[in-house]
Amino acid sequence: MSNRPKIYIIDVTNRDGVQTSRICLSKLQKTMINLYLNEMGVYQSEFGFPITRHETNYLNANLELVKKGVLSPMKLEGWLRATAGDVKTAFKLVPQIKHLNLSISTSDQMIVHKFKGKLDHQSIVKEMNEAVKEAKRLGAESIGVNAEDASRTKMEYLIEFARAAKNAGASRIRYCDTLGFDTPFSIYERVKLLVKSVAIPMEVHCHNDLGLVVANSIAGARAANDSGVDAYINTCINGMGERAGNADLVSVILAIKYGSGMQDYSLDEKINLKAAWKICKYASYAFGVPIPINQPGIGANAFAHESGIHADGALKDRRNYELYDFEELGRGEPEIIETGRKITAGEYSGIKGFRNVYEKLEVVFKDDAEATEVLELVRYANVHNQKPLVDEELKFIAKYPDIARKIFTMAP
Ligand SMILES: [Zn+2]
Repeated sequence: MSNRPKIYIIDVTNRDGVQTSRICLSKLQKTMINLYLNEMGVYQSEFGFPITRHETNYLNANLELVKKGVLSPMKLEGWLRATAGDVKTAFKLVPQIKHLNLSISTSDQMIVHKFKGKLDHQSIVKEMNEAVKEAKRLGAESIGVNAEDASRTKMEYLIEFARAAKNAGASRIRYCDTLGFDTPFSIYERVKLLVKSVAIPMEVHCHNDLGLVVANSIAGARAANDSGVDAYINTCINGMGERAGNADLVSVILAIKYGSGMQDYSLDEKINLKAAWKICKYASYAFGVPIPINQPGIGANAFAHESGIHADGALKDRRNYELYDFEELGRGEPEIIETGRKITAGEYSGIKGFRNVYEKLEVVFKDDAEATEVLELVRYANVHNQKPLVDEELKFIAKYPDIARKIFTMAP
């Protein structure tokens, strides 16, 4: 049974999440998200856009954290258009990148109405083929090939496209339900047929336009596993992502662990839900988007009971009204909030107040020079984030000042 295919998580908060209209993350916040995802045992983080110039220093700095063993074992993967030109530029700007997702549209709707004659079905396969080969030549260790709008793509063409990607050296196909058009029934059938025709591991990338995103992700993953290949579910923390969002990271993990009939499927054993509470709170603060009280596992009401029968039942035995334990999600610890005097560190801080802040975090500087250096970086970080820094960010800056300096540096 040990060779049974598995379900892995590829989180795309730092790519699809930051593409969400009207919200964004700073490069320090993106770095913190990568660190938290790694702590949570996520297989891979789609950490950004290798040919977007303002990402360059952030991406290279995070790959240095990989080298230092800080961001490990999680893989960092960059998202690109599937063209040989973009692949070349990516390796020029981010030479250490090892994992890529190469994206191109495959539906008639997009081929006709987006490319408008610039590309047709055959040239799309050709572009993708050249991009994959170029990525392999330049040293990519894993390549996911993204069929954008796969759910509205003619099955026959999708199979042809996937076969060509596999032959070119792709590690996985990303079945992309770009518009959230699928239902659990349709995605199951389509992924199953795709894998039966082209035996290749599958990623499912789903959107929530019809409110079906977690169900679709699970159904797609089951179809891949049922057909004998590994499945990779794309998630975003707190279900962020374009329009109605992507599959919520915690909901997907809970559904695989506790969903009826899911016991026969194997979730990547590295996943550790203990970090869930922390990562969701941080992402909510960083994005400036509150967590709904009814968010699965994490919302304020996820373990709250009031009505007589429910409260009585939950008190007698939690399994009467709770499928899983709040402790598993890292909840239940008291949170200490300072209600008296508080010294904070910001863009105009001086050394005395700054030292007070770090003493409380139990961070010791070896001399004044080191303290002054970190203070300067903390000032930049505050300008960079445009909101008060959290303890974990302050600790990160003190621990990796050289990395922090790179992350804050942008030269247009
Ligand atoms: Zn998307």
